[in-house]
Amino acid sequence: LTIAAIREKDEGERRVALVPVVAERIKRLGASVALEAGAGLTSYFPDATYKDTSIVEDEKSLVASADIVLAVNPPSPDLVQVMKPGAILISFIYGRTHPDLVKALRDKKISCFAMEQIPRISRAQAMDALSSQATLAGYYAVLLGTVHMPKILPMMTTAVGSLRAAQVLVMGLGVAGLQALATAHRLGAVTEGYDVRPETKDEAHSLGAKFVDTGVDATGQGGYARELTDAEKAKVKSVLSDHIARADLIVTTAAVPGRRAPRLIDADQIARMKPGSVIVDMGAEGGGNCEGTKAGETLQVGPTLIIGPTNLPSYLSEQASELYSKNILNLLEQIIKDGKLTLDLTDEVIAKTLVTHDGKITNDGVRAVVE
Ligand code: NAD
Repeated sequence: LTIAAIREKDEGERRVALVPVVAERIKRLGASVALEAGAGLTSYFPDATYKDTSIVEDEKSLVASADIVLAVNPPSPDLVQVMKPGAILISFIYGRTHPDLVKALRDKKISCFAMEQIPRISRAQAMDALSSQATLAGYYAVLLGTVHMPKILPMMTTAVGSLRAAQVLVMGLGVAGLQALATAHRLGAVTEGYDVRPETKDEAHSLGAKFVDTGVDATGQGGYARELTDAEKAKVKSVLSDHIARADLIVTTAAVPGRRAPRLIDADQIARMKPGSVIVDMGAEGGGNCEGTKAGETLQVGPTLIIGPTNLPSYLSEQASELYSKNILNLLEQIIKDGKLTLDLTDEVIAKTLVTHDGKITNDGVRAVVE
C-alpha cells in the first residue's frame, strides 16, 4: 500500500498534507510513503526530514503509483486522470464549487474523502480539519488586526500616565471566533463576543468576554446558524451598532453552511466607528461579513481599515500542516487495518466524508449540484 502526498500548487498555499512525524506513523500502519520533492518546504519540512520516504520529482509518476493520494487543496481534474482507477484521494474538495473535479473522480472510480465533510460529532473530532484550521485562523486574525492598529491591546501604566485597554469585538463564535476571543483576552484587550446561537454566551463568558445579547436565536439544523429574517436583522442592528462604534478591533467570522457569508456590518455602522479602528473580516472569501470587504485586500473605508484576509491557516503553515496531517492520519487509521484497506461504508464518518466511490457521487448535496 503506497500513500503519496503532492506539493500544493495553488498560489499562496504554504501548507502540506503530510509532515514527517505523520509519515513515520503511517509506516507503522504497514504502508509505504512517498512525497513530491519540495512538498514540505514552505511549511519548513525539507525533504531530508522525511525518513524512509521516497522523494519523487515528477508529480504524475508519484500519483500514478499511489493507492492513496493526500493533498490540502482540491487537485486539478487532470491529476485525477493519472490516478490508479479505484484509488483513494483525501483532500479538501468543496465539491459544489469544483464540479469538473467531482466528475473526474466519479468517472475514474476514485474513493474521495472530502475533509470538509468530516461530521461534527465527538468521535470525529480528531479528524475535524475545518476545526483545526479554524482554530489557527482565529488566533492569527487577532494578531493581524493588532499590527494594523495605532494602539496596543493591554492596559499599560507608563511614567506619563496609563494607556487604556483596547476594546475587541468578535462577531460569530464558532471555532475561529472563540479562538479569536481567547487570543484577544490573553493579549489584555477588553473583549465582547456576539453570535446568533445563544449557547455561545456561556462559551464567551468562560473566555473572559462579555456577550452581546441581541435577543435573536437563529440556531438552525445540526447546531449551525440559519439565515436571519429581515425583522431579526433590524433587531440585531439596533443592539449591535453601539458596540461596533465603541470597538478598536473587530474580528468577524460568521458563516452559514452553503450560503454567502452573512452581512454583519454595513456602511452606516462603519461611518460611526472610531478613527484608527480595524476590522479583520474572516468571511472575506465567502463574500464578506462587512460591507466593502475585498478578499485579499486591505482598504481604508472612512475611519476604519478593513482587512479581507484569504487562507489564514497558510500563514501558520508549519503547525497548520501538522494539525491537518494528524487529522488525515486519524482518518487513515479508520480505513487501514493490518496494512490493508478496509472501507466500512456503514461507518458514519466514512459514509459522510466520501463524496465519490465506485463510480458514483455519494454525497447528496454535491450530486444535486454536479449531476
Ligand atoms: P462556522 O465557521 O460555520 O460559523 C461561524 C459562526 O458564525 C457560528 O458560530 C455561527 O453561529 C455564526 N453565525 C452565523 N450567522 C451569524 C450572524 N448572522 N451573526 C452572528 N453570528 C453568526 O462555525 P464552526 O466553527 O464551523 O462551527 C459551528 C457549529 O459547529 C457549532 O454548533 C459548533 O459547536 C459545531 N462544531 C462541532 C464540532 C464537533 O462536535 N466535533 C466541531 C466543530 C464545530
